[in-house]
Amino acid sequence: MAQENFRELLKKHTLRVTDCRLDVLTLFSSNEKALSFRNLEDNLTKYDRVTLYRTLNSFEESGLVHKIPTDNGAAAYGLCQSTCSTDSHNHDHIHFTCDQCGSVECIESHQVPAVQIPGYLIKEMNFLVSGTCKTCLQSV
Ligand SMILES: [Zn+2]
Ligand SMILES: [Zn+2]
Ligand SMILES: [Zn+2]
Repeated sequence: MAQENFRELLKKHTLRVTDCRLDVLTLFSSNEKALSFRNLEDNLTKYDRVTLYRTLNSFEESGLVHKIPTDNGAAAYGLCQSTCSTDSHNHDHIHFTCDQCGSVECIESHQVPAVQIPGYLIKEMNFLVSGTCKTCLQSV
């Protein structure tokens, strides 16, 4: 995706266009896998922690990225599909975590199976599958 499209994307999500936001978006879209806050810090060293943290927060609030709870406690963030907005930030796809390289991925092609628990109101479901990712399987 080109810089110009990222500007449009930010505007669509009612976010002001800043260099940091553009750089974070670029990083997300050039990675197939989900990113942790640590990944942002390592790749975008010209911004300080606070700026990156705020950027990530504003992205999460406005439906550009979603948080993926992982089993090691460090949250990963995945880019949202174009259907997400500030009002409708819903995810029903499966997440995959790799035991070998520790990466986390959004598996958009697979949906979380529908679950009903009588007497309970379900707000959100997280479906984390672990194993060996495509990249690691190929490098064996
Ligand atoms: Zn979303
Ligand atoms: Zn892997
Ligand atoms: Zn996801």
